[in-house]
Amino acid sequence: MFPQGVVAYLKLFLTHAALAPAINQMGSREAAGSAPCFSMRCFVPEAIPPTERTRVVRESHRGIYDREAIDKILDEGFVCHVGFSVDGQPYVIPTLYARVGDAIYFHGSAASRMLRNSSQGIPVCITVTLTDGFVLARSVFNHSMNYRSVVALGKAILVDAPEEKLEALRAFTEKILTGRWNDARQPNEKELKATSILRLPLTEVSAKIRVGPPEDDAPDYALPVWAGVIPLHLTPGAPIRDEKCDPSIPTPAYAAQYKR
Ligand SMILES: Cc1cc2nc3c(=O)[nH]c(=O)nc-3n(C[C@H](O)[C@H](O)[C@H](O)COP(=O)(O)OP(=O)(O)OC[C@H]3O[C@@H](n4cnc5c(N)ncnc54)[C@H](O)[C@@H]3O)c2cc1C
Repeated sequence: MFPQGVVAYLKLFLTHAALAPAINQMGSREAAGSAPCFSMRCFVPEAIPPTERTRVVRESHRGIYDREAIDKILDEGFVCHVGFSVDGQPYVIPTLYARVGDAIYFHGSAASRMLRNSSQGIPVCITVTLTDGFVLARSVFNHSMNYRSVVALGKAILVDAPEEKLEALRAFTEKILTGRWNDARQPNEKELKATSILRLPLTEVSAKIRVGPPEDDAPDYALPVWAGVIPLHLTPGAPIRDEKCDPSIPTPAYAAQYKR
């Protein structure tokens, strides 16, 4: 179904289970379904057939509609860009997100323009991008990037149920640092009220993946120009203790040994 390179690459990165948030590791197959969905009874389709809007046009062989591959990208990323339009003006706002089962949750102040408008059920486009490498071809024209990205379309729905709101907030926290939710003070009623949570069901979604070496025009392979890939990784530094943090409190393992 996919070109061999993509299949090999998918096999490789699908093994990186450690990159997925615990909440989804603990049963994404079971925990998914039409959102809200935190139960074992839900069902995730193997693939989401592309629509006219989500079919990748250019380099269409890089388009992927397989749910497992899409989920892996969503679980590895933590910043998404939410696109929406107000009075004909498009806005694209970066924000945190978490996938829980069959939906993307994103949040912010109830007063922000994005959430004010998204909560009215306006259409949104959510994009997640993972940059894996600079691809240096022999010609400038064929320079590229290795990447994995997801585009999800639909109407974001404001989450009302307090338990779903809390579960989404837990997912934001646990996605980045497993164990942090229980260590830190959890949101009180006032904080919960001030936070809007939106849910975008994953019903119209595509992924696109570029892997591998540069692809030059045949005559250019003879050029005396270095070509190859510069891999890119997001590398965490050593934790920096807050000056106001009691020195007797040990640095938790999830911070001291944080890995991505
Ligand atoms: C880091 C990065 C750098 C890129 N640099 C370039 C560049 O310099 N020039 C360039 O032309 N393209 C670049 N792309 C690819 C770009 O994202 C589009 O795929 C490309 O513009 C072709 O779009 P299209 O005309 O096929 O689809 P469009 O008509 O724009 O989109 C149709 C549908 O295809 C799907 N789709 C398109 N692109 C993606 C994607 N990246 N991920 C998931 N779904 C997608 C969406 O569902 C979309 O609604 C880059 C992508 C990434 C992630």
